[in-house]
Amino acid sequence: MRRAKHFKKRSGERAIPILATLLLFTLFSSTCFPLSQALRTEEVPSLPAIAGQIEIKGALSARPEWTVETASEENALPNDPYPLLYTASVSPQDVKPKEKVAYLTFDDGPSNLTLPLLDVLDRYGVKATFFLVGKTGEEDRKAMREIVQRGHAIGVHSYSHDYQKIYASVDAFLSDFARIHQLILEETGVDTPIYRFAGGSVNAYNRDTAKAIITEMNRRGYAYFDWNVDSGDATVGITAQQIYQHAVNDSKNFDRPVILFHNTGAKEMTLEQMPAIIEALQQAGYRFETLKADSPPVRFRLP
Ligand SMILES: [Zn+2]
Repeated sequence: MRRAKHFKKRSGERAIPILATLLLFTLFSSTCFPLSQALRTEEVPSLPAIAGQIEIKGALSARPEWTVETASEENALPNDPYPLLYTASVSPQDVKPKEKVAYLTFDDGPSNLTLPLLDVLDRYGVKATFFLVGKTGEEDRKAMREIVQRGHAIGVHSYSHDYQKIYASVDAFLSDFARIHQLILEETGVDTPIYRFAGGSVNAYNRDTAKAIITEMNRRGYAYFDWNVDSGDATVGITAQQIYQHAVNDSKNFDRPVILFHNTGAKEMTLEQMPAIIEALQQAGYRFETLKADSPPVRFRLP
């Protein structure tokens, strides 16, 4: 029933050739290509600026600080604590001009409001994207499975959503990411290649670690999405009408709005406004899609 991922041991003989290849590639790439070309997004600054500031503990310290285009499990370094935490890296698709596509994204689920939200989305035949946290109750697990069974996309958000913990270091981030990624895989069978940072990629807690974490996650092939429209549903004191207005009016500034909503048990107003928001966006000419690894990136500009 549950599909567990089997961790395989890497043979010691492979370690030396792999390391040698990586060292050669590092030398070659830094000589022949500017590092910025190896990165998948313009928003990620070139690496020399952060080289030397990154302290990675233990087994990860041998990792070269560059990003490869074709990450896969074969990119795993010897003693990588997460040898299967790799995914096929893809380039963002070309965007057809003037095609209006809205992406409804829901963070912080699953919750008791997930199934009611799925019912609303079903009513309109709309597919959305859910960035999940680590909740393991029976109802939460069922909600996770339903998200997938009803055709929505699922991505990693954070297991603990504890900013101070997950942004303390690259290792701390990976440990949390691996845990929620594995929970999603076991529960739904989805080996998701997409994620959204808790608090967004630029926040008050990751100033010292964001660049190193993004570099490492790019190396592993995962694609992250921020948002360009905030419904405001996490803002204290916001009204249902304001959530509607943000979601609908701010989306009209974009051909491809990626709209941030939340799906905790407290977000009843979001659920309540969803039919009106969907109808308004449809009337404005948008169709709805889920985020995929090759969807056009929406990422905050790193400071
Ligand atoms: Zn969140």
